[in-house]
Amino acid sequence: MCGACRYKAKGKMLWTAYCHCRDCQRASGADYVSWFGMERSGVTWSGPRQEFESSPGVTRSFCSTCGTPLSFESHVFPTETHFYAPSLDDLSLYLPKGHVFWSEHVPWLSNGDDLPKHPKGLQAAAVEGKDLGIGKD
Ligand SMILES: [Zn+2]
Ligand SMILES: [Zn+2]
Repeated sequence: MCGACRYKAKGKMLWTAYCHCRDCQRASGADYVSWFGMERSGVTWSGPRQEFESSPGVTRSFCSTCGTPLSFESHVFPTETHFYAPSLDDLSLYLPKGHVFWSEHVPWLSNGDDLPKHPKGLQAAAVEGKDLGIGKD
Protein backbone atom coordinates (compact mmCIF):
# COMPACT_ATOMS: atom_id res chain seq x y z
CA MET A 1 0.00 0.00 0.00
CA CYS A 2 2.76 2.49 0.90
CA GLY A 3 5.04 1.34 -1.95
CA ALA A 4 8.11 0.83 0.27
CA CYS A 5 8.27 -2.93 -0.29
CA ARG A 6 8.24 -4.27 -3.84
CA TYR A 7 8.77 -7.61 -5.52
CA LYS A 8 9.49 -8.94 -8.98
CA ALA A 9 8.48 -12.45 -9.97
CA LYS A 10 9.70 -13.96 -13.24
CA GLY A 11 7.76 -16.50 -15.23
CA LYS A 12 4.13 -17.51 -15.50
CA MET A 13 1.69 -17.96 -12.67
CA LEU A 14 1.70 -21.63 -11.63
CA TRP A 15 -1.89 -21.54 -10.42
CA THR A 16 -4.50 -19.07 -9.22
CA ALA A 17 -7.22 -19.52 -6.60
CA TYR A 18 -9.34 -17.94 -3.95
CA CYS A 19 -8.47 -19.37 -0.52
CA HIS A 20 -11.14 -19.49 2.16
CA CYS A 21 -9.10 -21.08 4.98
CA ARG A 22 -9.33 -19.61 8.47
CA ASP A 23 -5.64 -18.65 8.48
CA CYS A 24 -6.05 -16.55 5.33
CA GLN A 25 -9.16 -14.91 6.77
CA ARG A 26 -7.32 -14.00 9.98
CA ALA A 27 -4.05 -12.95 8.31
CA SER A 28 -5.75 -10.70 5.77
CA GLY A 29 -8.74 -9.44 7.73
CA ALA A 30 -10.80 -10.22 4.64
CA ASP A 31 -13.43 -12.81 3.78
CA TYR A 32 -10.96 -14.71 1.58
CA VAL A 33 -7.68 -14.18 -0.29
CA SER A 34 -7.01 -14.21 -4.04
CA TRP A 35 -3.68 -16.03 -4.48
CA PHE A 36 -1.26 -16.92 -7.24
CA GLY A 37 1.80 -19.12 -7.10
CA MET A 38 5.21 -18.35 -8.65
CA GLU A 39 8.52 -20.20 -8.78
CA ARG A 40 10.43 -18.99 -5.72
CA SER A 41 13.75 -18.97 -7.63
CA GLY A 42 12.43 -16.15 -9.84
CA VAL A 43 11.32 -13.89 -6.98
CA THR A 44 13.29 -10.87 -5.82
CA TRP A 45 12.32 -8.44 -3.04
CA SER A 46 13.23 -4.87 -2.21
CA GLY A 47 12.29 -2.62 0.67
CA PRO A 48 11.37 -3.26 4.31
CA ARG A 49 9.71 -6.64 4.75
CA GLN A 50 9.01 -8.69 7.83
CA GLU A 51 8.28 -12.40 8.04
CA PHE A 52 6.02 -14.16 10.49
CA GLU A 53 5.68 -17.92 11.07
CA SER A 54 1.90 -18.26 11.04
CA SER A 55 2.04 -22.02 11.68
CA PRO A 56 4.92 -24.53 11.77
CA GLY A 57 6.73 -24.44 8.43
CA VAL A 58 4.54 -21.62 7.10
CA THR A 59 5.86 -18.08 6.65
CA ARG A 60 3.78 -15.08 5.77
CA SER A 61 5.44 -11.76 4.99
CA PHE A 62 4.23 -8.20 5.17
CA CYS A 63 5.54 -4.68 4.61
CA SER A 64 7.20 -3.51 7.82
CA THR A 65 6.20 0.07 7.13
CA CYS A 66 2.45 -0.23 6.52
CA GLY A 67 1.64 -3.86 7.36
CA THR A 68 0.30 -4.84 3.94
CA PRO A 69 0.27 -8.66 3.58
CA LEU A 70 2.62 -9.73 0.77
CA SER A 71 3.43 -13.41 0.56
CA PHE A 72 3.06 -16.96 1.81
CA GLU A 73 5.66 -19.73 1.77
CA SER A 74 5.23 -23.27 3.10
CA HIS A 75 7.30 -26.43 3.38
CA VAL A 76 4.39 -28.05 1.52
CA PHE A 77 5.30 -25.98 -1.58
CA PRO A 78 9.09 -25.76 -1.20
CA THR A 79 9.79 -24.21 -4.61
CA GLU A 80 6.92 -21.71 -4.64
CA THR A 81 6.13 -18.26 -3.30
CA HIS A 82 2.46 -17.38 -3.12
CA PHE A 83 1.35 -13.77 -3.55
CA TYR A 84 -1.77 -11.83 -2.70
CA ALA A 85 -3.20 -10.97 -6.11
CA PRO A 86 -4.24 -7.40 -5.17
CA SER A 87 -0.51 -6.65 -4.70
CA LEU A 88 -0.02 -6.81 -8.49
CA ASP A 89 0.69 -3.51 -10.25
CA ASP A 90 -1.44 -4.73 -13.17
CA LEU A 91 -4.59 -6.42 -11.89
CA SER A 92 -5.55 -7.50 -15.41
CA LEU A 93 -2.82 -10.18 -15.18
CA TYR A 94 -4.92 -12.17 -12.72
CA LEU A 95 -7.74 -14.61 -13.34
CA PRO A 96 -8.80 -16.91 -10.47
CA LYS A 97 -9.43 -20.51 -11.50
CA GLY A 98 -11.26 -21.84 -8.48
CA HIS A 99 -11.83 -21.86 -4.75
CA VAL A 100 -9.90 -23.84 -2.14
CA PHE A 101 -10.85 -24.55 1.47
CA TRP A 102 -14.44 -23.81 0.51
CA SER A 103 -15.39 -25.87 3.57
CA GLU A 104 -14.14 -22.96 5.72
CA HIS A 105 -15.74 -20.04 3.87
CA VAL A 106 -17.36 -17.31 5.95
CA PRO A 107 -21.08 -17.98 6.42
CA TRP A 108 -22.19 -14.67 4.90
CA LEU A 109 -20.57 -15.34 1.52
CA SER A 110 -22.92 -16.42 -1.24
CA ASN A 111 -21.91 -18.78 -4.06
CA GLY A 112 -21.57 -15.88 -6.43
CA ASP A 113 -19.76 -17.61 -9.28
CA ASP A 114 -19.66 -20.99 -10.96
CA LEU A 115 -15.94 -21.67 -10.50
CA PRO A 116 -15.06 -25.07 -8.99
CA LYS A 117 -15.23 -25.08 -5.18
CA HIS A 118 -12.84 -27.51 -3.50
CA PRO A 119 -13.53 -28.32 0.15
CA LYS A 120 -9.79 -28.61 0.97
CA GLY A 121 -6.53 -27.14 -0.34
CA LEU A 122 -4.52 -26.99 -3.54
CA GLN A 123 -2.93 -30.40 -3.16
CA ALA A 124 -6.25 -32.12 -2.51
CA ALA A 125 -7.69 -30.46 -5.60
CA ALA A 126 -4.71 -31.66 -7.65
CA VAL A 127 -5.08 -35.22 -6.33
CA GLU A 128 -8.68 -35.17 -7.55
CA GLY A 129 -7.36 -34.20 -10.99
CA LYS A 130 -8.73 -30.69 -10.56
CA ASP A 131 -5.57 -28.67 -10.23
CA LEU A 132 -5.84 -24.91 -10.62
CA GLY A 133 -2.98 -24.34 -13.03
CA ILE A 134 -3.55 -21.84 -15.77
CA GLY A 135 -1.99 -24.13 -18.33
CA LYS A 136 0.73 -23.54 -20.84
CA ASP A 137 0.54 -21.13 -23.71
ZN1 LIG B 1 -5.63 -19.97 2.94
ZN1 LIG C 1 4.07 -0.67 2.96
